[in-house]
Amino acid sequence: ETLDKGLEKSKTSFFDKLNKAVAGKSKVDDDVLDNLEEVLVSSDVGVTTTLKIIKRIEARVAKDKYVGTDELNKILREEIAGLLSEIDSGNETEFKLPKHENGPHVIMVVGVNGVGKTTTIGKLAKQCKNAGLKVVLGAADTFRAAAIDQLQIWADRTDVPIVKQEMGSDPASVAFDTLQSAVQQNADVVIIDTAGRLHNKVNLMNELTKVKRVMQKVIPNAPHDVMLVLDGSTGQNAFEQAKQFTAATEVTSLAVTKLDGTAKGGVVIGISDQFQIPVKYIGVGEGINDLQIFNKFEFVDSFFK
Ligand code: GDP
Repeated sequence: ETLDKGLEKSKTSFFDKLNKAVAGKSKVDDDVLDNLEEVLVSSDVGVTTTLKIIKRIEARVAKDKYVGTDELNKILREEIAGLLSEIDSGNETEFKLPKHENGPHVIMVVGVNGVGKTTTIGKLAKQCKNAGLKVVLGAADTFRAAAIDQLQIWADRTDVPIVKQEMGSDPASVAFDTLQSAVQQNADVVIIDTAGRLHNKVNLMNELTKVKRVMQKVIPNAPHDVMLVLDGSTGQNAFEQAKQFTAATEVTSLAVTKLDGTAKGGVVIGISDQFQIPVKYIGVGEGINDLQIFNKFEFVDSFFK
């Protein structure tokens, strides 16, 4: 129910467009397929994934065969869910993090400024606390003073310890301290914020690689999760950022934010498919509780209701 509410904009628009695309059509002809293609592309599903979906529909429905609007909707919904199902994730309905024998679960969060990285970390910290997990935050985005301050605000708000240093200090050193502190405190989860400057790809790669390497001095297989945060309302920009970050480091999960303020939720489908990275969380508001566990079936269903 909350998912439906959070995605109101995405949902209404996608559903409306979809219905318009097939309205009055009694068979799946080129016209219908063209319209569908347009709806998917304009909802930011992306061209590659759109063509994949269209192909599947073509393969499933003999062209020019009579199919009612309801049935066409159903087919489309199944094909999109099927696409997301090829990535082995998105089945969860409740918040759950893996446990490790040698220390806390370490999440390194990456993404450019302004996408909602800090907010997502704060919301995630809250979910951890709600689940009874002990969390430590690490302010390794040392490039901007505001980033450290913002994270501190979220640490206060969620009543979670934070490890930080001066602005301009070595991010790897902050990450190292954070992990050490977390191990000492017997924490369950560590969430490390990192700087997201994209102006120099080599720098980004070097910095993230170094942060990871230094973390591994404390916990050999850390980070367990490299989560890329993307702003779902930015369409092609989000695709471009996914491309750059996946080239710079091994991204293992996605959090897509601001889906409450966009009519283009299709970006979740496209990016997940194109980069074969599971979406773990979606942000549907600015509040502390506006982070939802991504469940592909619920998500796809919410578009077609
Ligand atoms: P950062 O620079 O990536 O750390 O971005 P912030 O976490 O500071 O967020 C930037 C802005 O986006 C803030 O005004 C947040 O309140 C807002 N924001 C973050 N996530 C969401 C979301 O899911 N929905 C909405 N509507 N706003 C969000």
